[in-house]
Amino acid sequence: MIDLRSDTVTRPSSAMRTAMMEADVGDDVYGEDPTVNQLQDDIAALLDTEAALFTPSGTMANQIALHVLTDPGDEVIVDATSHIYNYETGAAGMLSGIQLHPVSTSNGLLTPDAVEAAIRPEGAVFPRSRVVALENTANKAGGRVYSLEHIHAVVEVARSHGLRTLLDGARLWNAAAATGADMANYAAPFDLVWVALSKGLGAPVGSVLAGSANHINAARRVRKRLGGGMRQAGILAAAGRYALAHHREQLVTDHAHARRLARAISALPAFELDVDTVETNIVIFDTPHASAQTIADELASEGIGLTPFGPHTLRATTHRDVSSDDIDTVIHTLRTLYR
Ligand SMILES: *Cc1c(COP(=O)(O)O)cnc(C)c1O
Repeated sequence: MIDLRSDTVTRPSSAMRTAMMEADVGDDVYGEDPTVNQLQDDIAALLDTEAALFTPSGTMANQIALHVLTDPGDEVIVDATSHIYNYETGAAGMLSGIQLHPVSTSNGLLTPDAVEAAIRPEGAVFPRSRVVALENTANKAGGRVYSLEHIHAVVEVARSHGLRTLLDGARLWNAAAATGADMANYAAPFDLVWVALSKGLGAPVGSVLAGSANHINAARRVRKRLGGGMRQAGILAAAGRYALAHHREQLVTDHAHARRLARAISALPAFELDVDTVETNIVIFDTPHASAQTIADELASEGIGLTPFGPHTLRATTHRDVSSDDIDTVIHTLRTLYR
């Protein structure tokens, strides 16, 4: 199967598995796993933060970060398309007693004006606006990229009102690959930032949360409380370290594959897509004349996996387990079925 459903479907290569097998390990709840410690140091260095913490998933990294940055009753401003708002099972309300304030934007990227308008005034009746959380790249919006200038403008509004800031960097690697911006520059404006090892980088498990030593110490306690304290986790961290060393370059190729696929899709009358919106490895397009599920089912029977993202919307995601030949095959199949 040519699996374009998500960039989470990648499987560890044999070289990555060898790195996992050979990892030095210890008990990470005691802080004694050398491979986990090395991975955390690597990410802290890359993002230029004081400290970092390995987490089992990006969802846990988001929820730990929200817990550290808020008190119950606080409000967190997010884009209406954000992962925190749409795909985390209502965890923020349940685990941290906070409410989310989703803001609708034209392209999934929060603007300074939209954030300014969403911040609550002082007053006895209002929730306290406490955090602005951005997603770079913005997944549900089609892998859109925030520029550094855009981020600085949004964060400046947040800071001028005393709000804290969080960056969901599940695909920050892709943003950096697309713009050439430095990862540390992308991370600098935020109180907490995390990156995923298990999306485009192709590791089987894990994310890393980064920030000040104080915040990361607090985060370690929350991780334990959520059941995320793992023991010989170096087996997993080794895969992440291998991915960091060997898989970042591939992202540029993934982006080129996505653009090539997008151009072919936009040329077919059955579909609607503005190619200019495809900046990274995610292609979201509309199927105005048929249900997305029907088309996904038809393509599945041809051995091609896409994800329905709405009644008339599909998502295709490129990643390291999809080759240039695979993209040719997908394009050929689309042209044959949906001329
Ligand atoms: C995948 C993803 C997450 C969650 O990561 P998991 O490791 O799947 O829990 C969070 N935010 C964004 C933008 C994502 O794409």
